[in-house]
Amino acid sequence: MKSCKKFLKKYKLPLIISLVFILGITSFFVSQKLLSPSITLLGKKEVTVNLHGHYEEEGVKANCLGKDVGDEVKIEGKVDTEKEGTYTITYRIKENGIEKKVERKVIVKDIEPPTITLEGDKEVTICDLASYQELGYHAMDNADGDITDKVKITKDEEKIVYEVSDNNGNKATETRYFKIEDNEAPVITLNGGEILSIVIGNSYKELGYKASDNCMGDVTNKVKVSGSVDTGKLGTYEITYTVEDLNGHKTTTKRVVNVISREKAGVIYLTFDDGPKEGTTNVILDILKEEGVKATFFVTNSGPDYLIKREADEGHTVALHTASHEYDKVYVSVESYFNDLASVQARVKRLTGKEANIIRFPGGSSNTISRNYCQGIMSQLTKEVLLRGYHYFDWNVSAEDAGGAKTSSSVYKNVTSSLSKSRANVVLLHDIKAQTRDALRDIIQYGKMHGYTFEAITYDTPMVTHKVNN
Ligand code: ZN
Repeated sequence: MKSCKKFLKKYKLPLIISLVFILGITSFFVSQKLLSPSITLLGKKEVTVNLHGHYEEEGVKANCLGKDVGDEVKIEGKVDTEKEGTYTITYRIKENGIEKKVERKVIVKDIEPPTITLEGDKEVTICDLASYQELGYHAMDNADGDITDKVKITKDEEKIVYEVSDNNGNKATETRYFKIEDNEAPVITLNGGEILSIVIGNSYKELGYKASDNCMGDVTNKVKVSGSVDTGKLGTYEITYTVEDLNGHKTTTKRVVNVISREKAGVIYLTFDDGPKEGTTNVILDILKEEGVKATFFVTNSGPDYLIKREADEGHTVALHTASHEYDKVYVSVESYFNDLASVQARVKRLTGKEANIIRFPGGSSNTISRNYCQGIMSQLTKEVLLRGYHYFDWNVSAEDAGGAKTSSSVYKNVTSSLSKSRANVVLLHDIKAQTRDALRDIIQYGKMHGYTFEAITYDTPMVTHKVNN
């Protein structure tokens, strides 16, 4: 006890000092704990954002002395989603002189795989693997752009696999499946159409054909032709065309040839005004060629040159209509009329190398509109053109395709209902009209089926003219 008292006496002061110190430290830490704010990340500590994507700031939760102090949080750092990299966002809060912070790591990188787009069907039917021709594909990536040239193709009996990786190793694959079979027979097309009429005594000449097969390609030389036509004897003859592919698919097409009497034969002169025009005249020429029919084109100065050249090259008659087709210019005087005619004449000469000598007056020789510009001009012109060596043609069948006939069925009806075997049929059509283009094949087939023959107008064709009204 004695030593204890001695001890206390000796160390009283240091003990008190230590006690006060410990108490001070403790209360300091306690107050720090109480007064300091708290801050917690909302969302993840590390976030990955797609390049060119969007970074969504999720923020933090901050409290101090039980109060929400989120509004006072300062956010430092920015994320550039257009640029790959690692970004740090720092969130700071300071309350009662005490600062706390948290950080978030944001990684911007390309995590999106490329996309592969296949052209054509994803399932293709082919004859054999060797005959497959790549239908095409594209590969696009959000970061690298067009990476089509990086696509790797592997092919087996059943499929083609297209694979591609972008620069960041994101992969994409697409597959196209094969169905190997030949389910198609060859196709035969006949030049000159499936029905022909020939006047007795004229010669029959094979107009030709083409045959193609989905697996074998051009098989024209494998076509067997049978049947014959006796052009010395009236009747209906059949020519049969047959072709077979390697898988036993057989196609047979027939051509009907009518040998008709001279009296029974009607002639149709298909005449087309106001062209040429891209989109209609070219298709009309295709149809005429396929049907083996010649026609007459009364051209203007409009439309592309090559179509006029084609008309001439394919054996049609290129005739003159008008350069401008503007009545108030063409019909003001005889001189104006011939100036306009000379202009279209020069165009035709330049393109065909020939002087055209067949004409059709704008509006026909019976037009009355010219009265508005010059009294009596049609009476003068119809005489004058003959003196200058032209033959002019009006018509006796009108498709009405520049007027009321707006559909191919009305064009067809107007023409076919007016045809007659007892005269030459000069049919007025306009090759600038879609409904005429669309009706043409049916008109030709109607004519062939009903014993008409088709001819182009020549200088020797007897003129078909109207009564002059001015
Ligand atoms: Zn016209």
